[in-house]
Amino acid sequence: MGVSENYKSIIQEIGSIRPERPPVLIAVSKYQPQAKVRDGLAGGVLHFGENRVQEGSEKFKDLGIAGKDFILHHIGPVQSSHIRKYPGIFSYVHGLGSKKILEELLSRMEREKWELKYFLQVNLTGEDSKSGFSKEDAISLLKNKSDLFGEYCKLEGLMTMGPSSGDPEITRTVFRELANIRKEFLPEGKLSMGMSGDYRIAIEEGSDYLRIGTAIFGERE
Ligand SMILES: *Cc1c(COP(=O)(O)O)cnc(C)c1O
Repeated sequence: MGVSENYKSIIQEIGSIRPERPPVLIAVSKYQPQAKVRDGLAGGVLHFGENRVQEGSEKFKDLGIAGKDFILHHIGPVQSSHIRKYPGIFSYVHGLGSKKILEELLSRMEREKWELKYFLQVNLTGEDSKSGFSKEDAISLLKNKSDLFGEYCKLEGLMTMGPSSGDPEITRTVFRELANIRKEFLPEGKLSMGMSGDYRIAIEEGSDYLRIGTAIFGERE
């Protein structure tokens, strides 16, 4: 099936699992050629995800106006060198995992007057291969809300990744734990969780943003 057929069938599935408050579907186009992004745009995709900032900027810069024709999400761990490349192209960031980077992000976006929403990544599986704050560090950050919001740069919510094993029970436990942290410490915040292998569980557990790559675009190059 083509990109737009895959996208539409996932949108339909979302509607059948949780019609009352469907999550945003981010089509993760990392390592995919621009031709497939164009197919997605033609098929009604609005939100795209890239994990390499430079590659993402180049792929999207001549496809329209950022924030209007497409909305671009950076989904990988945020590094210092990425931050200056966000203005003009990226609208969301999903992998904020360090306090120092958070301070840099806030001050840069305020200076450049670029509106950006970010998610704090929480590592709830304890796997070393995954970045993000520990649960305890995330909670202590969430207790000082004024440090998390600028005029332009605002905390949108919490992000996590399920276990690499894909074990459905552990996945559900992890997603539920993120939802509980949100409920207690950031009730107005959103949840970014769910990828190609675990998005159905994420929808059931209340996700607001799904990050789906291979199930839409096929295997990466
Ligand atoms: C690559 C990636 C995705 C998409 O993964 P798929 O399994 O292809 O759906 C989602 N989130 C993050 C953080 C990723 O790095």
